[in-house]
Amino acid sequence: MKIQIASGDKLRTKNWRTEGLLRMLENVLYVGEDPQNLIVYAALGKAARDMKSYEKIVETLKNLEIGYTLIVQSGKPIGVLKTHSKAPVVLMANCNMVGQWANADYFYELNKKGLICWGGLTAGDWQYIGSQGVIQGTYEIFCQIARKHFNHSLEGRFILTAGLGGMGGAQGLAGFMAGGATLIVEVDEERIDKRLKNGYLQKKAKTLDQALSLIQDAIKKKEALSVGLLGNAAQIYPQILQRGILPDIVTDQTSAHDLVYGYIPVGFTPEEIKELREKNPKKLMEASLASIKIHLEAMLGFQKRGSIVFDNGNLIRTQAKNAGVQEAFNIPVFTEAFLRDLFCQAIGPFRWVSLCNNKEDIAKIDAFILKHFEHNKIVSNWIKLASKYIPFEGLPARIAWLGHGERTQLALGVNEMVANKDLSGPIAFTRDHLDAGAMAHPNIMTENMLDGSDGIADWPLLNAMLNCSSEADLVAIHSGGGGYSGYMTSAGVTLIADGSKEAAERLSLSLNNDTALGVMRYADAGYEIALREAKSKNIGYFDLRNSKE
Ligand code: NAD
Repeated sequence: MKIQIASGDKLRTKNWRTEGLLRMLENVLYVGEDPQNLIVYAALGKAARDMKSYEKIVETLKNLEIGYTLIVQSGKPIGVLKTHSKAPVVLMANCNMVGQWANADYFYELNKKGLICWGGLTAGDWQYIGSQGVIQGTYEIFCQIARKHFNHSLEGRFILTAGLGGMGGAQGLAGFMAGGATLIVEVDEERIDKRLKNGYLQKKAKTLDQALSLIQDAIKKKEALSVGLLGNAAQIYPQILQRGILPDIVTDQTSAHDLVYGYIPVGFTPEEIKELREKNPKKLMEASLASIKIHLEAMLGFQKRGSIVFDNGNLIRTQAKNAGVQEAFNIPVFTEAFLRDLFCQAIGPFRWVSLCNNKEDIAKIDAFILKHFEHNKIVSNWIKLASKYIPFEGLPARIAWLGHGERTQLALGVNEMVANKDLSGPIAFTRDHLDAGAMAHPNIMTENMLDGSDGIADWPLLNAMLNCSSEADLVAIHSGGGGYSGYMTSAGVTLIADGSKEAAERLSLSLNNDTALGVMRYADAGYEIALREAKSKNIGYFDLRNSKE
């Protein structure tokens, strides 16, 4: 299947709400890792259940009348129902299994029967924008570490990580933008070449000696550099440790969450892995766990010697603990360690996409931000860096961490630019599921919450209902699949700014309520920053802590 993304302002559907969503669907496949199998990222994260489902979704969006809603269940279109003109155009539930059943084995069983598919976070609801989607988060983590531990600078510092897939592919550029020398271990040479080609990685090395010599040279010259090393992290990390070389920062972004389709254990050829996936997944799971154990023990070894080590959201600690590494959770997760203060203010990864495929439009929005958000140093600094360094993949897009009120201000400003024809066409707005009110994941997003509410999934469910009541264009509820089964629930939302008055109403209601709920979630858990944010922005949160029974 050859996926094309549409350009220009010619509609193939009845209006821009549906055309915009169709272009987002095509785009996630265009920039995804394996479009032939509808896989977007994170090993198994899919845009649609199967080819028949994909084709039916496309056909339905092309013909969908105003006032009707397409219903999608785990990547399969189920039907169209009469709703009303302000209702979402697409509603989805992806990979939600009942509590006691939500485990990897049951997921694989259903997946094999073609009854379910995992939508990842932004794959199944057509919001993924390529590696850029995660890049500012990774960059902010590195900057936060620099501020806390390295006198505000990563110049001359060594970052060791692994995985150059859909998300992990952002690490080289994020490390480069933060000024460090980043070594990324990747077992699949094609992935290294893909990142070299799209400008996210600078150099490739085939031996550890070659890679370390490049890194050591960059450290000496205090130059930013990213190097992809062909190898298995479960072998390379211990070798670096044994040589007594101490990276300043260590993390990992292999698909460790999935022991069958994600993580590649040591000692198997790609053909053997392919065969085991089909014939003996249990053996593959055991082998992956054994490698992850060694991989994580090396990370703990670096931590003991003084490296700053963190889990970057791939469940590697959980897997290692299951493999018997008792100290696995001595390594902190990135959200709690570096980003929670931002989430308390509902500041999180917000994105926009030029639906007409026009880079100039993104540049004009960059200029709008630099003018109207000059006071916000994180965002203005980021926009300057992003416009200089980040290559576009597929439909031109931008990501920036914005909070309550800021997202609405930007989206309404952009909608007006579309209306005035200052932009060449509509813009889609969306955000990551890893956002203040949108995700419950006790081993990633909500670990060690102040009030112990880590595993409560009410918040993402409320988020989705609220976005439906707030006229959003697409609303989705996701739960984990593959190795993430049973670990998380999240919600996604997309809005199309087509310049109309109706779009302005949708953007205002949905974006305000989306972030307001995020602030409420953290205020309710007792975070002072969120309580202050709720008060100062008049968010309407009921603070019942001191009220009488
Ligand atoms: P992906 O499946 O596209 O890529 C994973 C990469 O890891 C592949 O290129 C694979 O070849 C490589 N790999 C697997 N085992 C390896 C090993 N032992 N040694 C070296 N390389 C190995 O996945 P992705 O989209 O890049 O996501 C990576 C992980 O990050 C997933 O677990 C995902 O869920 C998680 N994630 C985190 C965040 C975040 O915000 N921090 C966001 C999205 C995804």
